[in-house]
Amino acid sequence: MGFEIEKLLRPHLVNLQPYSSARDEYSGTEGIFLDANENAFGSPTMEKYNRYPDPYQWELKANIASEKNLKKEQIFLGNGSDEAIDLLIRAFCEPGKDAILICPPTYGMYEVSAHINDVEVVKVPLTAEFHLNELAIESAMSEKTKLLFICNPNNPSGNSFSDKRIKHLIEKFPGIVVVDEAYIDFSENKSYLEFLGAYPNLVVLQTFSKAWGFAALRCGLAFASDAIISVLNKIKPPYNVNLLTQRIVNEAILEPEKKKRMVRAILEEREILKKALQDLEIVEKVYPSDANFLLVKVKEARQAYEFLVSKNVIVRDRSKVMLCEGCLRITVGTGSENKILINKLKEFARSLEIA
Ligand SMILES: *Cc1c(COP(=O)(O)O)cnc(C)c1O
Repeated sequence: MGFEIEKLLRPHLVNLQPYSSARDEYSGTEGIFLDANENAFGSPTMEKYNRYPDPYQWELKANIASEKNLKKEQIFLGNGSDEAIDLLIRAFCEPGKDAILICPPTYGMYEVSAHINDVEVVKVPLTAEFHLNELAIESAMSEKTKLLFICNPNNPSGNSFSDKRIKHLIEKFPGIVVVDEAYIDFSENKSYLEFLGAYPNLVVLQTFSKAWGFAALRCGLAFASDAIISVLNKIKPPYNVNLLTQRIVNEAILEPEKKKRMVRAILEEREILKKALQDLEIVEKVYPSDANFLLVKVKEARQAYEFLVSKNVIVRDRSKVMLCEGCLRITVGTGSENKILINKLKEFARSLEIA
């Protein structure tokens, strides 16, 4: 298809000279470091944090690379995958001129990031059954739609899209297709990482915020060709992933068993929660989920949401979102949390009958 990254990149970035940090110019570990204006005496805490961290997180990337069977140069780490979303838009979309293409209902940050950057958002809604509207997407593609975001499994609908449609879109799209796999660990489907070699215009996003249980650490990943990753590296803030995050994530990926056990437990609870919800009279539909949440259509959704909040049970109100009318998005909690949720929903149902 003749993919040329220079043609997609915003013109002023082609020859951009990136910030060269002190740690870029000399990266040895031994020596007397008087080059970065750090505090040579240490930190006021027991642990020392006085030295800037590795700007490219090479040790962590080496471990991720061997686990995923990729090269270190195909990995970008960000302050959450939200940072990767923002950097992709800033790299490829000229403000006031270019656009991104999204398929609502989907993750809100694509649109917010685009708007912050004064980049237009072309929306092609999913079908009523939450499938990609392939033909409509194809007719909405143009020279100015530089990025197509496909959230797979999708947030908030919870389903995965057809492989055939996604691949067809990657082949047809004139720009870069971003497949956001924030929830891939909860799905039986395979990651798109294996297609990076086949598709030079593919970016895969993953995150440590969901299955790995590290939302507070802020660490997300983008995987792509060396060429796309080097663009992100060029425009990122130099020390975007802090030392503690690099260290803790690194420890965790060397011991993946704990995470696998948590994912299995979440999947078991998801099925238990789904059945319990389906037994409630106020629940009209529980949508199929490949993620760690359920989209649930309930009677009087907004009132149910407010009732739950008043009982200190917080779910996500999606009842006014296109194609999710009347729905709540409920994250799978622990067994006891889910039981409390079910009991509070029963209480809400009784309060409706009395009223
Ligand atoms: C939660 C989520 C993310 C994760 O963002 P982080 O910044 O890595 O915490 C990304 N994409 C989708 C679709 C999500 O739901």
